[in-house]
Amino acid sequence: MTSPSTTIRPVDSPAIVWFRRDLRVADNPALHHAVERGGPVVPVFILDADPEDGPRPPGGAGRWWLHHSLERLAETLRGLGSPLVLRRGDAVAILAEMAEALGAEAVMWNHDHDPGAAARDDKVREALTAKGIAVESFNGALLVEPEAIRSKAGTPFKVFTPFWKTLSTGHDPARPLPAPAGLRAPAGGVASDRLEDWGLLPVTPDWAGGLREDWVPGEAAAGERLTDFLDEIVRDYRTGRDRPGRDGTSRLSPRLRWGEISPRQVWHAARMRADDGLEPAIEAFLREIGWREFTHGLLVTNPDLGTEPMDKRFNKLRWRDDDAGVEAWRRGKTGYPIVDAGMRQLWQTGWMHNRVRMITGSFLVKDLLARWQIGEEWFWDTLVDACPANNTANWQWIAGCGADPAPFFRVFNPVLQGRKFDPEGDYVRQFVPELAELPNRYIHEPWNAPTDVLAKAGVELGTTYPNPIVDHGTARDRALAAFREMRAAA
Ligand code: FAD
Repeated sequence: MTSPSTTIRPVDSPAIVWFRRDLRVADNPALHHAVERGGPVVPVFILDADPEDGPRPPGGAGRWWLHHSLERLAETLRGLGSPLVLRRGDAVAILAEMAEALGAEAVMWNHDHDPGAAARDDKVREALTAKGIAVESFNGALLVEPEAIRSKAGTPFKVFTPFWKTLSTGHDPARPLPAPAGLRAPAGGVASDRLEDWGLLPVTPDWAGGLREDWVPGEAAAGERLTDFLDEIVRDYRTGRDRPGRDGTSRLSPRLRWGEISPRQVWHAARMRADDGLEPAIEAFLREIGWREFTHGLLVTNPDLGTEPMDKRFNKLRWRDDDAGVEAWRRGKTGYPIVDAGMRQLWQTGWMHNRVRMITGSFLVKDLLARWQIGEEWFWDTLVDACPANNTANWQWIAGCGADPAPFFRVFNPVLQGRKFDPEGDYVRQFVPELAELPNRYIHEPWNAPTDVLAKAGVELGTTYPNPIVDHGTARDRALAAFREMRAAA
């Protein structure tokens, strides 16, 4: 029997749940634990004001996604009973002031592995604990926290395969937590900014038409996409994932980046399907989720992953300064159809197929011999899934200077890649419509098409579509020479 002194009374002082890269209510450990306390819950999102101090500010496409994802999250939280509070500025000051004003007992959040975010969180923790306010933080972004995956020597893995073996066989990611049935709001409500006043959406010009056509941000849409993917698309994942002209991958990347869905939800939902003869496809898919875990671990141990090559010899590589070439790359006007299709897909839809990210990345870094950081920054601004760990680690990988990298001497041939992975030219035709009438044989190399074939397809090279801005063979030799020189100097 419970004595009167131990009767559990409802807690009246609220807990603040600080949302960041976890814009969901299901499998949200911070929210779950705040609700478990039994008291009122104040959900807050803070737009960091100082780009020098804190997480890397999202680029244009990321801001677009964030706006819409916050809209959805706010609707959900309102429905659950406690509206989302929006604030802009210094998180340390805002949370300290808000916790005091509300008489909050605790502030809870899920980890963000962006080094700037982690440094900011340390300051918040310090300021709150100094005021006697409890701080609790949780893993909501990864299957397993990076510190828990170590080699036998106790060091972080630098190579993916053993990392993945250790994670996938030695760890059992926790089961996802349910969404709360309801939330108690604090008495009196809390003042909030208006999302529209944050200016996250592009206005003049409004370049987001293609993003609106392709994407519906938010937790509900993320769950639907996961179901569609696991019901159908995953069956063909092992080959479909390399075909940019097909809807052959999960397209969960922006959802994972913004935390509309958790990797644990993905992991357990996928594992449940693995017995329908789908095991190899599911394993191939989860391996990609494993890459995401790997890159986050790399970022934690290499906070300057976005700027400093892991292989320091690459600081000595004689990169070229070719502003016109880089601009042609950004605009999808290099004269190589698969490269241009990728760069235009990125610009129009805020996303690019993985195979084409590798081809366009290789083209920038090797054919143009431009610094990989230039590509990283462009992707950061234009990808809806631009992720502080995935973008940086993959650019280092493609440049050959990261952990477990593609060797620098592996130079993607844009014509052969196009022929192999877009054999019917569907992808090029979709994003480079001025080449749509070319026969398959020339779709990846229009400069080799006879004059009458070009004329019949309405293509005038140099006018309706550019001539190649570099000769791939010559550019490849130039890159390899620069690489050899760098190695000799090291
Ligand atoms: P799926 O094939 O369905 O994979 C499922 C999930 O696994 C992805 O959503 C993603 O979270 C993860 N994943 C897949 N491939 C990788 C990978 N190579 N590295 C790390 N995680 C991976 N991914 C991002 O999420 N954000 C980025 O900013 C980003 N920048 C990239 C830059 C370059 C130069 C390259 C080559 C790759 C980059 N990637 C990035 C990785 C990959 O291209 C995307 O994750 C993938 O295309 C997203 O599509 P999807 O969700 O359909 O992938």
